[in-house]
This record gives sequence, structure tokens and C-alpha cells, in this order.
Amino acid sequence: WKNAPANLTQLIALSRTHGDRLATIHEDQRVTYEAQYRAIATLAAELRAMGVAKGDRVALAMRNMPEWPVAFFAIVATGAICVPLNAWWSPQELAFGVNDSGARVLIVDRQRHDRLDGDYRAMPGLEAVLVARARVPLSGICRRLEDAIGDCSGYASLPEVALPAVEILPDDAATIFYTSGTTGRPKGALGTHRNLSTNILSAAYVAARSYLRRGEMPPEPEPKVGLLVIPFFHVTACSASLMGALAGGTTLVLMRKWDAGEALALIERERVQVTGGVPTIAWQLLEHPDREKYDLSSLEVVQYGGAPSAPDLVKRIFDVFGALPGNGWGMTETMATVTQHVGEDYLARPTSCGAPVPVADLKIMADDGVTERPVGEVGELWARGPMIVRGYWNAPEETAKTFVDGWVRTGDLARLDEEGFCTIVDRAKDIIIRGGENIYSIEVEDVLYAHPSVTDAALVGVPDPALGEVPAAVVHLCPGCEASEAELQAFVRARLAAFKVPVAVRFSDTVLPRNANGKILKSELRQMFAAPGKA
Ligand code: ATP
Ligand code: MG
Repeated sequence: WKNAPANLTQLIALSRTHGDRLATIHEDQRVTYEAQYRAIATLAAELRAMGVAKGDRVALAMRNMPEWPVAFFAIVATGAICVPLNAWWSPQELAFGVNDSGARVLIVDRQRHDRLDGDYRAMPGLEAVLVARARVPLSGICRRLEDAIGDCSGYASLPEVALPAVEILPDDAATIFYTSGTTGRPKGALGTHRNLSTNILSAAYVAARSYLRRGEMPPEPEPKVGLLVIPFFHVTACSASLMGALAGGTTLVLMRKWDAGEALALIERERVQVTGGVPTIAWQLLEHPDREKYDLSSLEVVQYGGAPSAPDLVKRIFDVFGALPGNGWGMTETMATVTQHVGEDYLARPTSCGAPVPVADLKIMADDGVTERPVGEVGELWARGPMIVRGYWNAPEETAKTFVDGWVRTGDLARLDEEGFCTIVDRAKDIIIRGGENIYSIEVEDVLYAHPSVTDAALVGVPDPALGEVPAAVVHLCPGCEASEAELQAFVRARLAAFKVPVAVRFSDTVLPRNANGKILKSELRQMFAAPGKA
């Protein structure tokens, strides 16, 4: 946390102070921080030679691999704006990202290239494409990334090149991350160097908080080994995991794609200390049939955020892994972490996503957008601090609606307790209003999760002629478990007000559909209630 400069070029230069440590491990490749630095500086010089200048957009569409952080840091070191695109997007969606951001250059992996080859024509502003791990002849605007920086095994022997001499100020733009598109079309959030680096200090403070509260000096933070299971193109992986790793010398173990069994094997093989991401990943690790075959004793922290989690998860992580559970809240517009808690604070408040990091302010606002709601009452969560992005790219109207006097209106409904701990109760767009009574879906979902047969649950509103909207639930039961609709309704009725009891419960054979960021796709579930029958 001493290595927390506000501009990323300084951060890249500082990563050489732990140059011998491994930056990334991916399959049989191991890249040290010094080797990674050399590849970054070499690629940055190459991009400059291609004409990439400050403020230009360079898009990046790759799955997790060592080239991702190399490309990311090389782009921002030129002063250009990196546009990380969701690698699981279709060619049309990728073309939207490239065109919407006005990218001049695109850096892709081989799979993206194979899918996009015929579609580069649909991206008229694109001047060049760099393809990582290309095994195919390239033509036209495409070039091999390896021709510029070689492959991972050769990074260490690259010559020493200086980082570009471009003046970059902390409040200069660094990234455009697209939101997950859970509630509509993805929006590009324009983040700065300061937005990104703020996460380094926030994470250090959260780790030290319990010591500071007891009046003790926190221990010197040590570099860790982390298993990164969420994609770099999601803001949390980049701004929390990657920034923190570069500053602290953490080794990131990368996975080609998420697989719970492989993750367990990697935790054992690499003695992983920290992992997490989104709640569903933690569940899958806990529930894996072969879990007990692996030595997971190295795990110290399992933390997540990005989506509501069952309160039960906290204790399970602590009991089963002997690791400290952590939860944090943030959104693309806040470049990741705004609230967080790890360990004892979270164990004591399993429905909370933590207290704000010290540089963040939170308030709970009434519908009028002017009146603040008192402690303990639900309203829209507004957030402020140096992690809030400048606005949406190319969308002045949306920006004016969402970013008000330095605050971001989050669209989440939440309450704060006397100590400032935050509990998210719903998204404003998902709240169910049954004949004038508000039903917050997370409250009912938490009750369903508490039923021993239920492993996945979602509450959605379905139209009702008399009441406007009524709650209905979709659940997934554990293998071999049983529960009837009437039994689950009675279970909720015994614990909550009658108007919150789902009028119907559907059973899904699989876990509920989620997007790449682990969020349940409620719009798909609502459609299920349009047609009668089993999910
Ligand atoms: P879009 O804005 O395009 O509809 P999105 O809001 O899902 O998509 P993200 O920015 O990835 O895109 O997600 C932020 C949202 O994720 C928050 O607004 C909140 O609803 C949810 N979220 C994040 N962290 C938590 C958490 N710890 N607990 C509950 N919900 C969370
Ligand atoms: Mg959102």
C-alpha cells in the first residue's frame, strides 16, 4: 500500500521493485514482474510507433491470459484509453463496443480473431488489429502480437525499453468499461487513472481495518498468491485484483475458463491464498463433489461481490475452508470497490456488503432525489468518492441522469445501519410493488435460501390484474432434495408478512441463468411465468 501512485505509469514502473516475483501463472507459463514490465514497455513503444496517442481508444478482447495485463498496461502507458470488451460477446456485440468507443486499434486473442475475421469490415474506424497467439496467416489490418513482444517465455529476454514519455495526470481517462447490461444496453463508463488506483489504498485499508479499530498497528502486507476466476474485462478483476497485484507483488493464477474442479486443483497445486469473485463461484467450490480430495489449507480469504449472496455462504466458507469470507459492493460506474468487509465484521453481519472504504461516502435517498432517508430505512443508494467515473462515454443524457453533483445514483435500494454498514435489498428496477406494498426480492430470496433443500433462488414480479404485480419464485433444489410449492410458501409465510409470500413457485432443474458477471437474469425468469408449466 505504500506503492499506490495515482497514475498507472508510475505503478507499472514500481512493479519492478518486486521484479523476481511471478506476476501471472497460466497453464505452463510463468511470467515474472520484470518480464511483464519489459513486455509492457516494448508493446507501448510499438503502439506509439503505430501512431497511438493520448486519448485514442484501443480495444482489448481476450480471455484471461498473461497477454491481457501486458496489453492493458501498454495501452494506458501510451496515454490512450483501454476499452476492455467482454470476450464472450458475439461478433455483433464486439463490433458495438469497438464502434461505440471509436477504437483505432483492437487487440484480440486467436479465438476472437477467428470469430471476427469476416466482421472487421463492420468496424470502419479500426486501423489495425493485433492478434495474440495467432497460428494462422494474417492479412489486411491484422498483425501478430508476438511479432511485437514475442511469446510469454521470451518476455524476460526482451531489451530494456523506457515507458513512453507522455504526461499523464491522475484525472486523465484510462478506461472505458461497459456495464454488464443486466438492466438494459451496456453503457461505457469512462474511468480515470485515479479511479483505478484508488482501489489499491481501499483494499489495504480494509485489510488493516480490524487492527486499526483495536488500536493496533496492522502487519506489513505480504505478497500473496491469488486465483483469478473472473475475467479481466470485468471491472472488479481489473481494478481490484490486477491493480492490487501490481502494487503488492501478488501472483495471479489464471484460468482459461471457469471450472470448479480445475480451480480446486489449482488451489492445491499453487498453494493459493486468496480467491473469490462472485458468490456463485464460491458456492460451486463448496458444493463440488470432489472438494474433499484436495488440500485447500492454503486458502486465507474467499471474497466476492457483484451480486446478492445467500447469508449462509459466509459461515460455510469459514467452517469448510477455514478461510475468512469477504463481501464488497461496487458497480462499473464506481470502478469496483465502494463498500467491503472481510472476516469478523462480515461473519457478524451476513446480509451486509460492508461499510464504505474511507474515501467513499454513501447516502440513502428518497424517491424525490432530494431528501435523505434516516438510518435503517430503505431508499436509493447514492455514492461519492475518487473511484466514481467521469460519466458515460458518448451518452450525455444518461450521464446527467446518473451523475449528480459528484454523486452516482446507483439504482440499488439499500439501507445503512448506525455503524455505516450497508445492506442491498434490491435493484430499483426489480422491486416488486404488490398493491402498493413494497417487496424487496433479496429479503424473500434469503428466506428461501434458508430452506435446507434450496440451493438457488430468485424472486420476480409477475403482472396481476388486481394488484399490479405479485411475487413469484424460481428455485433450484440440491441433488436428491425435495420440497413442494406449498411447503416453500408455508416456509416463507412462517417468517415474513403474508403479502411477501410468492404466489407461485417454479422448480428449475439447473442453477438459475446468470450473465458472465454472475448476476441472475431476472428478465428471463419473468418470461417463464408468462407460460404455465415447469421451468
Ligand atoms: P447494467 O447497469 O448494464 O444494467 P449491472 O448493473 O449488472 O448492469 P455492473 O456494474 O457489473 O452492471 O453491476 C453493478 C450492480 O451489481 C450493482 O448495481 C448491484 O445491483 C450489484 N451488486 C454489486 N455488488 C453487490 C453486492 N455485494 N451485493 C449485492 N449486489 C451487488
Ligand atoms: Mg448498473
